[in-house]
Amino acid sequence: MKETGHTSAAILAVGDEIVLGQKADTNSAWIAARLLESGVPVREHAAVADDLSQHEEALRRLCARHALVVCTGGLGPTPDDLTRAALARVLGDDLVEDEAALRAIAALMARRGAALADNQRAQALRPRSARTIENHNGTAPGIAAGVLIDGNACDVFCLPGPPREMRPMFERAVLPALRPPPGRTVLTRTLHCLAIGEGDLARRLGPMMDRDRMPLVGTTASGGVVSIRIRYEGARDGAEQAVRAARDEAAARAGPFLFGEEEDTIQSVVLRLLRERSHRLVVAESCTGGGLGALFTETPGASVVFPGGWITYEDGMKSAALAVPPALLERHGAVSEPVARAMAAGALRACPPAPAAPPGAQRHALAVTGVAGPGGGTDAAPVGTVFIALDSAPEGPGPAPPAEVRRFRITGDRADIRSRAARLALAMLRWRLIGAAVPAALWQIPHEG
Ligand code: ATP
Ligand code: MG
Repeated sequence: MKETGHTSAAILAVGDEIVLGQKADTNSAWIAARLLESGVPVREHAAVADDLSQHEEALRRLCARHALVVCTGGLGPTPDDLTRAALARVLGDDLVEDEAALRAIAALMARRGAALADNQRAQALRPRSARTIENHNGTAPGIAAGVLIDGNACDVFCLPGPPREMRPMFERAVLPALRPPPGRTVLTRTLHCLAIGEGDLARRLGPMMDRDRMPLVGTTASGGVVSIRIRYEGARDGAEQAVRAARDEAAARAGPFLFGEEEDTIQSVVLRLLRERSHRLVVAESCTGGGLGALFTETPGASVVFPGGWITYEDGMKSAALAVPPALLERHGAVSEPVARAMAAGALRACPPAPAAPPGAQRHALAVTGVAGPGGGTDAAPVGTVFIALDSAPEGPGPAPPAEVRRFRITGDRADIRSRAARLALAMLRWRLIGAAVPAALWQIPHEG
C-alpha cells in the first residue's frame, strides 16, 4: 500500500545571499526542526539564487520528488523577488491579482501613510490556481499551491524570507496543514557530552551508530560540546520505548562525559547542582579572561550561587589579588600546576563568608591558567596547554576535600581554547558535585570538524 500524507518534505531557500554564503540559512534549519517535531520527515534541503530559470528548475525537481515543499524568500517587491513567477511556471499558470491580498497590502501601506507603489501592488499577484496566505508582520503575502508533476502530488508553501515574517506565517498556515504519515512518527532525543572528542565518543557508542539501525544515532560537535543525536522514524507503536532504550544505552556508554540533555548547558547543569546543595562557586581566571564567569552567569539565577571572581591576567595581579607567591610564579611559570592550585586556594580564601549557609554547604573555586595562543607557547607548555584547578572548602567548620588540578591539551584556535577551557572547568566541578571521579584520559581534547 502506498503511504499517504507528507511522507517526504524538502525545504528550498531562495536568495543570492544564501547561495553566496553572505547570510546563514537559518530559515531552513528552523523549518526542518518544526517539520521533524510534527512527524514529517525532511529529506532534502536546497538553496537557489535569485534567478528565474534556476528557481523554476529547483522547484520543479523538488515537487516531482516530495510530498511537501516549503520555500522561503523571494516574495518581496523588488526585481530580484522571483518566487511568484517561478511557481507560476511550474504550475503552468498565469499570474492573477488576488483581491484580498491587494486590500491587505493597500491597508498596510495606508497605515504607514505611504502610497501604494506598483511594485508593492505586484506582491498581490499569485499563480491562478494558488492561494495567498496573509502576512500579519509585513507586506508580502505567502503562497500555497498544489503541484502535480509526473503523477506526484506535492503541497507547496512559499513564505517570506525575513524570519520575523516567516515564522508566524509557518505556525499559522503551514503547521495546521501538515499531514504526517498516519501510524508513523518521528522522535528525537539529544544528549550532551564534554571533555571527549567526537571520535572517542563514537567508539564508545560502537554499534549504536550503525546506519542501518533504528533509532539512528549520530554525533555533532560545537563549542567543545559533543552531542549524541537519537532519531526514530517509523511506526508509532513502540516508538517511545525504542527511543527510551536507545537513550539509556547511549547514556550508559557515554558514562561520565555525559552532562545533560536537550536544552541543558554545562552552566545550567552546574548551576542546578550548586543550588540543590546550597554550594557556591568563585572563579580565578587567567587565560579565559573572564570567560568562565561570563559563561556561568549566562543562566538566569546564577547570582544565588556565584559571588564573583578575579581576572588575574598578569603575574603581579595573581599575587596581589590571590596571594599567589611570587617565588612560585618565578619557579614554575604562570602556566603551571602549582600556580593553578595557588590561584584556586587564594580565591577560596578571598571569598567572603556565606550569609546563611546550611550545614554541609561548601564553596568551590575554579582556577584557569593556560596558553591560548597563537603566540606564547613553549616546549613545556605549548599553545593549548591549560591547567584547571578545583579547590573546595566547607562554609562552616569541617574537613575540606582535596584540591584537584588537571592539565589539558586543548586544540583549536584562541577562541576555541578559551571557550573550551571554561566549559571543562565547569565539567570538573560537575564531577565533584555528583561525586564522580574525573575520567583519566583527558589530555587531548580534539577540535571538531
Ligand atoms: P522582502 O519582502 O523583505 O524582500 P522576501 O520574501 O522577498 O522578503 P528575500 O528578499 O529573499 O525575502 O529576503 C529578505 C531578507 O530575509 C533577507 O535579506 C534575509 O535577511 C532574510 N532571509 C531570507 N532568506 C533567509 C533564510 N533562508 N534564512 C534566514 N534569513 C533569510
Ligand atoms: Mg526580497
